[in-house]
Amino acid sequence: RYAINLNVRGIQPSATLRINELSNELKAGGRDIIKLGLGQSPFPVPERVTQALRDHANEKDYLPVKGLRGLRESIAGYINRSEKMRFTWEDVLIGPGSKELLFILQLAYYGDLLIPRPSWVSYAPQARIIGRSVHWLPTHAENNWQLTAEELDIICRDDPTRPRILVLNYPCNPTGCSYTDDQLLAISNVARKYGVILLSDEIYGEVHFEGQHKSIARYYPEGTIISTGLSKWAGAGGWRLGCFVFPEELRPLQDAMAIIASETYTATASPIQHAAIAAFDGGEDLDDYLIQSRRVLKLVGEYLHHRLEKMKVWAQKPQGAFYLFPDFSHYQDALARWDIKTSQALCTALLEDTGIAVLPASDFGFVPDKLSARLAFVDFNGGEALELAGGEYADK
Ligand code: PLP
Repeated sequence: RYAINLNVRGIQPSATLRINELSNELKAGGRDIIKLGLGQSPFPVPERVTQALRDHANEKDYLPVKGLRGLRESIAGYINRSEKMRFTWEDVLIGPGSKELLFILQLAYYGDLLIPRPSWVSYAPQARIIGRSVHWLPTHAENNWQLTAEELDIICRDDPTRPRILVLNYPCNPTGCSYTDDQLLAISNVARKYGVILLSDEIYGEVHFEGQHKSIARYYPEGTIISTGLSKWAGAGGWRLGCFVFPEELRPLQDAMAIIASETYTATASPIQHAAIAAFDGGEDLDDYLIQSRRVLKLVGEYLHHRLEKMKVWAQKPQGAFYLFPDFSHYQDALARWDIKTSQALCTALLEDTGIAVLPASDFGFVPDKLSARLAFVDFNGGEALELAGGEYADK
């Protein structure tokens, strides 16, 4: 006799992982599947980083809960170089993926979770598992799906002292959109006014196509936690290494998370932490890897965007990450004749009839539904593409 925790009942396993497994099953059964469902980097892990992993394969000890000091130093240095800030190694917390860190942040913090709609598939289910209330903040396609300072103010002003965390993810999964400096500044001013903690999910920070990615931590240093990791820019999602960088003011929150970590996963795998130092220390070869991978993703994203536009399927031109969030409503009436009225039905039909795997808008917080889907443009040979981008096609 047993019972399942009520908070977990009714939640499906993570949408992205589900679509990946289903695509793999169909592929194994002989179907030709174009896998645009799972947001996994198409590129190999940079050679220097895999070499570091091989070199440390025999590291077998449990590491300190908050992470290896050398890696924490290297991550503080990495953020300081790009953001011109002054973090120290003590501000950094390492975990087995930023997803796990997001989860233990919610366990450690008491308060509401604010999420712009649409947002990555896991923020809301994590909150639901813990029994935390989630508030979706509206954003609009015409506005590049950017949260406005005004929308944040509206939700905070009724109960100004209520503890809250706002998750801001840019470049954004699922829309590929980012923010301008002025927009980040305006949001940070409202967050400061109400004492809202910002979880700045910058896992795609290195995967931006124009100009330079800037963290909102520059404008709200005392209240921003930066989240990043190896998964997206270093192609190492399966290695499971993420990190949070905290301002000194939020050290008690970091300590509370470390208590949870110490009683659950203990620490992140030692060889991976040693290898991650090579990634975060950077170098010319890694700069080059990033330049080429951005070039490839921009080309593929803009090409797909153009092709969709020609079919009257509208999407924002991606500014970063590897996603498009096209709107199929131009075909609403035609689809309805096939009894396709929801984003889930659209994605099921696309997979069954054409072999294209994408994720429905409903997985990104759209209630009521919207006839949109997330398309992860990563189903190509990234190693070959990097060679072409850096080789004979470099100037094309
Ligand atoms: N945040 C966003 C927006 C993501 O898209 C992902 C992965 O898909 C994550 C966080 C989690 O990344 P990881 O746990 O691999 O560090």
